[in-house]
Amino acid sequence: METTSSQHGHNHAPGASPQPSSGAEKLPGIRHLIAVGSGKGGVGKSTVSVNLAFALQQMGGRIGLVDADVLGPSIPGMLGLPTGQPPATTSDQKIVPAERYGLKAISMGMLTGDDNPAILRGPMVSKYLRMFIGNVLWGNLDYLILDLPPGTGDIQLTLVQSVHLSGAIIVTTPQDVSLKIARRGLRMFETVHVPILGIIENMSTFTCPHCGKGTDIFRHGGGDRMSRELAVPFLGSIPLDADIVTGGDEGRPIVVDKPNSIAAQAYLAIATELAGRLHHAPSTALKPFAWTWEPSVGEPAWLESAIQPSGSRTTAIGFRRRDARTLSVLWEDGHRDDFDVRDLRLACHCALCLEEMSGRPLLDPKSVRPDVSPRTINSVGHYAITFVWNDGHSTGIYSFKHLRALGERRAVGVAEDV
Ligand code: ADP
Repeated sequence: METTSSQHGHNHAPGASPQPSSGAEKLPGIRHLIAVGSGKGGVGKSTVSVNLAFALQQMGGRIGLVDADVLGPSIPGMLGLPTGQPPATTSDQKIVPAERYGLKAISMGMLTGDDNPAILRGPMVSKYLRMFIGNVLWGNLDYLILDLPPGTGDIQLTLVQSVHLSGAIIVTTPQDVSLKIARRGLRMFETVHVPILGIIENMSTFTCPHCGKGTDIFRHGGGDRMSRELAVPFLGSIPLDADIVTGGDEGRPIVVDKPNSIAAQAYLAIATELAGRLHHAPSTALKPFAWTWEPSVGEPAWLESAIQPSGSRTTAIGFRRRDARTLSVLWEDGHRDDFDVRDLRLACHCALCLEEMSGRPLLDPKSVRPDVSPRTINSVGHYAITFVWNDGHSTGIYSFKHLRALGERRAVGVAEDV
């Protein structure tokens, strides 16, 4: 089934930062292009990309993998592909991808070799990669996985803008410090309106190879907590497993090599979750928007034609500025909520306004001025909006679920206890 990625691509949002132009067209024959990113290196992003690719393959998909980690390409090693040998090309200069266990793959490492990192600067990298990805004989693919370079700098930002992504996955480890860094990754994708498909927590629980008992080496559940706090899906966690390292070092990814292991099963569960999410992307999704409130510029659509009485309660299909103090939200099931904007400010869920662990409110309603109102409202994927308020506050993410619950509790006016 096809999603509507053309509708929720990343461009055209008025007032948003520079957007992809012609380079961001969908690649023919490729249903889903998915980026895998991380805030920093060493969290297992490439390992996750490779094993997730094979897990999707085991579910019957045709998969391609691009190692976009130009400075430290590790995919050739993990797949046992030769490096330093330019890939074959056809007479019309198309690149023939390498193939391993039925997976098509291409890596900068195939061009540069292990010891010879590509010395390319940001703009060159993305130009090169775009050519690289678009010029490969992929054939028809269900998923093309793009293993991004670690980090959230210019290279990553340019890259995610220069290809048409269905969405992005963030890999993190459970420690607080990684989670903080992973958050930066999330923000980067949000800036360019790439939907976040979810968070994967890697190296979570250690499973004893002898007795099968699980031990939390690092703090467990950080990824899950972060996804709840930021209102993005949690795709699942991968245990810490020595076989993952050995398999990676020897070019035998664990999902292929030991498909019945706990780790391989964890990858399969994540792949199932991911495929489900992509296939159930709402067909009525609003286009991404960056909306200035006063005067109203870039107001999103109000899709009354998309109302379905049995539709989702938490899919917003319209936002409207009813008056200077009222934001209306139209839901797919036809319900409409009118929110006083100050009440929305009071209902902010961010870590500055609400204590993370206990849920205790930190924001004193008396400190919020009566005339507080949005400066801008931006969409975040298909699931949330964010505000920049005229009191300078901007860190809250309002998931549709949260907004609907606010409306249903008639919390307008007593929003501080939500
Ligand atoms: P990144 O792409 O984020 O830099 P890699 O995928 O190269 O990270 O992984 C870094 C190291 O961690 C590798 O040695 C890899 O085998 C190991 N690793 C990755 N995931 C796991 C895991 N779940 N359990 C144990 N080791 C892992």
